[in-house]
Amino acid sequence: MSARILIVDDLAPNLHLLVVKLAAEYYDVLTATSGEEALEIASKERLDLVLMDVMMPGMNGFEACRLLKENPNTWHVPVVMVTALEESKDRIRGLEAGADDFITKPIDDFNLMARVKSLLRLKMVTDQLISHTNTGTGNNRPAFEKMNAKPGNILIVEDHSTRSKKISVPLSKKHSVTVVTDPNLVPAHLKRGVDLVIVSLVSENFDGLRLCASIRHDENGRDVPILVVGDPDDETRLVRGYDLGVNDTLMRPIEIEELKARTQTQLRRKFYADSLRDNFNQNLEMVVTDSLTGLGNRRFFERSIEPLFEEMEAENQVFSIMVFDIDHFKRVNDILGHDMGDQILKEVAARLASNMRAIDIVSRYGGEEFMIAMPDTNEDAALLAADRVRGLIGGTPVYIKGQALHITTSVGVAEVLPNEKLRDVFKRADAALYRAKLAGRNRALSASTKKAA
Ligand code: GH3
Ligand code: MG
Ligand code: MG
Repeated sequence: MSARILIVDDLAPNLHLLVVKLAAEYYDVLTATSGEEALEIASKERLDLVLMDVMMPGMNGFEACRLLKENPNTWHVPVVMVTALEESKDRIRGLEAGADDFITKPIDDFNLMARVKSLLRLKMVTDQLISHTNTGTGNNRPAFEKMNAKPGNILIVEDHSTRSKKISVPLSKKHSVTVVTDPNLVPAHLKRGVDLVIVSLVSENFDGLRLCASIRHDENGRDVPILVVGDPDDETRLVRGYDLGVNDTLMRPIEIEELKARTQTQLRRKFYADSLRDNFNQNLEMVVTDSLTGLGNRRFFERSIEPLFEEMEAENQVFSIMVFDIDHFKRVNDILGHDMGDQILKEVAARLASNMRAIDIVSRYGGEEFMIAMPDTNEDAALLAADRVRGLIGGTPVYIKGQALHITTSVGVAEVLPNEKLRDVFKRADAALYRAKLAGRNRALSASTKKAA
């Protein structure tokens, strides 16, 4: 689906000019000739971007922008104000109305496309974030506003101190800004965490484009937005910059409001993307981690041992599994309460995890049952390990709220047979566990032990 852009301008020739330019890039273009009509369309259509003329009879562009940004259904759609040249006051008013970017007339194609692409990327991550949190556009607004207010770590690479001050001074009011004159220092800064890099293409002692390319190839810089500062007559290099992964351009002479607005857009995209990734990782973790004990859950276990089965077929590997089950846990719960039961589960899990080898796969398989896989371990060795850990758990009381509790476990051990399925080896280990319980608990038995030890 191509991005849908609404162009708002009261003058037909202006509209036409933009329609032609954007349609040529295969965008889906809608038009409105007044602020009122723009709002009407925005209430009905899915939009990805609005290009808004400032001077219009009736409702002007600022007012229309403000209303779009106040509406819970449209606040997340980026708005670019289209202003006449040299109207610095307009830019400030636009920012106050919530505009995301500016473009000046006469419209330069290169600049227009750079702006459009940069903001459409922002819209894409915003949309993803909204759909991930699943609460609709309206409810997300406070979270987004908090993110927008967040200060960023900005790295400026420029070897001329007057030029770098022009950028660093206005940005340091809100952000934490570092200036470096030597591009060789950039990797170390990226490693410490940077939210935006501003690279000067007019530096005398280094090649700014080369630096941009190396930031993109740095594992710590791959996702960091890059804003380049260039001269308007250096279009070929700026175009080259976009090919290298530059996100936005600031033309010299730098205008403070424009600098702030572009910085804000890039930081916003970075913060949104970070939070998307955090969300994703969190979901991923929730899927495979047991929240009480922090151990992997059943799904984690089943996934993690797949390679062991494969290795077994390919390389004649051996491995064993063991099932730990807490003794009389129901009674513990009944006497001490469920919360104390939970604390005991946590402590048993911690003892299991800390007494196994790093390559062993330890999981909470179900309620008070823990399943462990031991690679490179035959049944006899696994039984020894199981008995040792069982002894450690039963041998030291668990202290909870000042009470010393004696908790014991029983264990069933089984070595995986050739061509055996997890279900079947689990059954054999469980049968051994059952025999351990019958034999009086607090013991480990293996599937091939015929009699209770
Ligand atoms: P046995 O020695 O035969 O294993 O006796 P048991 O009481 O441990 O056996 P059973 O499997 O019948 O009971 C397990 C109990 O574990 C039942 C349930 O109340 C408790 N349990 C399971 N999951 C949790 C949990 O997440 N928290 C707490 N506190 N208790 C749990
Ligand atoms: Mg039990
Ligand atoms: Mg049980």
